[in-house]
Amino acid sequence: MDSDVIVIGAGPAGAAISAILSQKGYSVKVLEKSSFPRFSIGESLLPQSMEFLDKAGLLDAIPPDLFQVKKGALFARGEQYSRIDFSKKFTNGPSETWQVTRSDFDKILIDKSATYGSEVIYNATVKKISFLPDSAKVHFAENNEDKELQTKFIVDASGAAMVLPRLMNDVSEPLQSKSALFTHYNSDDRNLEESENILISINPKNSKIWYWGIPLKNGGLSVGVVSDTKTLDEYQGNDSQVFNTIVSEEPSLNRRLKNSAPTMPIKKITGYEATIKNTHGKGFLLIGNAGGFIDPIFSSGVTVALKSAILGAENIIKVLSGETVDWTEYDKEMDLGNNTFRAYVKSWYEGPLQEIILMEGKEEEIQKKINSILAGYVWDKENSFVREPARKLKQVLSLIRKYSVS
Ligand code: FAD
Repeated sequence: MDSDVIVIGAGPAGAAISAILSQKGYSVKVLEKSSFPRFSIGESLLPQSMEFLDKAGLLDAIPPDLFQVKKGALFARGEQYSRIDFSKKFTNGPSETWQVTRSDFDKILIDKSATYGSEVIYNATVKKISFLPDSAKVHFAENNEDKELQTKFIVDASGAAMVLPRLMNDVSEPLQSKSALFTHYNSDDRNLEESENILISINPKNSKIWYWGIPLKNGGLSVGVVSDTKTLDEYQGNDSQVFNTIVSEEPSLNRRLKNSAPTMPIKKITGYEATIKNTHGKGFLLIGNAGGFIDPIFSSGVTVALKSAILGAENIIKVLSGETVDWTEYDKEMDLGNNTFRAYVKSWYEGPLQEIILMEGKEEEIQKKINSILAGYVWDKENSFVREPARKLKQVLSLIRKYSVS
């Protein structure tokens, strides 16, 4: 046997699970397709992720002043504006986090995992997996040379590549896909409040299009345009022209970017939402985006990836110690958070949540419970908005509508 566990992918999910397992004394090899640092999207973290990074033994590795501090979110539609303040939340826990350049962030995490003993092999692309009765063989190409390793357990943390589910033919992509166009700008004209919050704005003419503005530590701004692919396809021109036209339709971003220029070509990602039926099976577990991805709107990706790594590691330790694992408990816990985010994403694209968030002056207790979810505390069963997300949003909407009419 070459190792107890092989992890495919060295993103946040792979770094967290390999760090935890290595700290517990298991031998872990991480196979990573690229060499680090490498660009990745997903730069805005949620406060809940700070606890998860700490649990994985990774938080201390991040110099506190390396990244832009994030304290909340500014939502805007035309002249309408509201701020979600993470310090005014229902659930106890950190109320601040960072907006990160993922090339730096991901490298710090995986380097820390290596200090715990994980062996990270870069330029190693996993091609095939053969399951044997009590182990598995991982076939990969390292710098174009075919190699294989035998392991007791495989963790797929390969992100959108979804290596194992694609090999097993278990990926259902939605019929109507979404797309994101994005780039980085070298500066933006922002004040302190704008520095410390992500900007989420809605196209004034079409509420199906939304934007992110993520302030970065070097003074730059990550800007993204997101919508369903069909809506974006209705704009004329190449990706860069479409991006510029849509950005020019958004007043808050326009103001901030008037003296700024992109620092990289416009990138486009399409069809990133995907659902997987079986996130685990004999000898394997899928974590992070490899186990599915909902939507970028609430910056939940890294937080969910870290949660699945922590829970996954607890269960893999049991498997490796010969204990029987009740994976339905794992599923239940992951579903709790994912279903909350799913309900919020659905309500955002259908419109009610945009209305709820932009409406100022909600009852304090309700605002705190919503803020908690937007800060990533979607596993807090004490929060009624976690237990029954769709019903609670419906109730708030009808209250808002009642009072705005009378
Ligand atoms: P990744 O970070 O994608 O890491 C996977 C790793 O696996 C990569 O390094 C890759 O090179 C490697 N790999 C792939 N194939 C193979 C192979 N065959 N062999 C070996 N290695 C392989 N999340 C947030 O938290 N905040 C945000 O603001 C945010 N914005 C987003 C915007 C968009 C448009 C999109 C699409 C997503 C966004 N996300 C955001 C989600 C976020 O990008 C992901 O949830 C997060 O990166 C998942 O981490 P991961 O470790 O699962 O995968």
